[in-house]
Amino acid sequence: MPAFSDTLVDRLASASRVVVLTGAGISAESGIPTFRDPDGLWEKFDPQELANVEAFLDNPELVQGWYRHRRQLVEEAEPNAAHRALADLETHIDALTVVTQNVDALHTRAGSSDVVELHGNITHNYCMDCERPAEASTVDAAIAEGVPARCPECDGLIRPDVVWFGEQLPPAAIERAGTAAERADVLLSVGTSAVVYPAARLPLVAQEHGAYVAEINPDTTGITEAVDESIRETAGAVLPSLRDAVAAPHDA
Ligand code: NAD
Ligand code: ZN
Repeated sequence: MPAFSDTLVDRLASASRVVVLTGAGISAESGIPTFRDPDGLWEKFDPQELANVEAFLDNPELVQGWYRHRRQLVEEAEPNAAHRALADLETHIDALTVVTQNVDALHTRAGSSDVVELHGNITHNYCMDCERPAEASTVDAAIAEGVPARCPECDGLIRPDVVWFGEQLPPAAIERAGTAAERADVLLSVGTSAVVYPAARLPLVAQEHGAYVAEINPDTTGITEAVDESIRETAGAVLPSLRDAVAAPHDA
């Protein structure tokens, strides 16, 4: 018995527009640690204390070093079966938009073509002053020299392209995500605790506009009470078989 309903398969198979909202849980099976990195050097730092602009201005070298460490973990990781199944699903659906709270870029690396990054992308850096993109190699070279990484153009400090505590989400990303949710025929919420707004609102927006909403998460979430279907398994266990079910020929 698959963990998901025939209704979900039918709704996906006939859907024109699908939104998949993802969170840290979809990357857990790629070995991407949550903020709590158990194995060492950076363990003693609390993300709440480093992932904000005050901490950055106070000690740019420290925060740049922490983000370089996290960027390297992401670059060493590989997309998993769940990321790949979502990329494959595009073949069967006219418009599939992935809206992610993850900063690890694994959806894009898996081949998804329409990805909205609500919290930015840890593999990118930019200058705080002139906002030009900056190369990771510039950051790495400064860290090796023991100095803060600065913009080659204007000498401004270079920061990671992620949304920090206390910062607004990129308005264009929120807008695209909201529009996609309003138009969706099906929304899947995968590996997110769905407690942080505005991401947690998107499944409800989709549902209000007529979408069928399912969540894939081993645990209950902030939207469990509202969704049409809860699939209590890991993303890597469910999404490949869901993709196969949608791809299989259907009885008319
Ligand atoms: P969260 O930590 O609040 O929730 C993760 C959810 O994933 C939980 O509900 C958990 O039950 C579920 N989960 C765990 N393993 C799973 C699996 N194998 N399959 C399916 N579900 C699984 O994560 P969130 O909702 O994304 O919010 C946390 C914040 O931390 C976000 O703002 C995000 O930007 C940031 N973050 C990002 C990354 C990343 O980029 N990979 C990693 C850690 C934290
Ligand atoms: Zn600059």
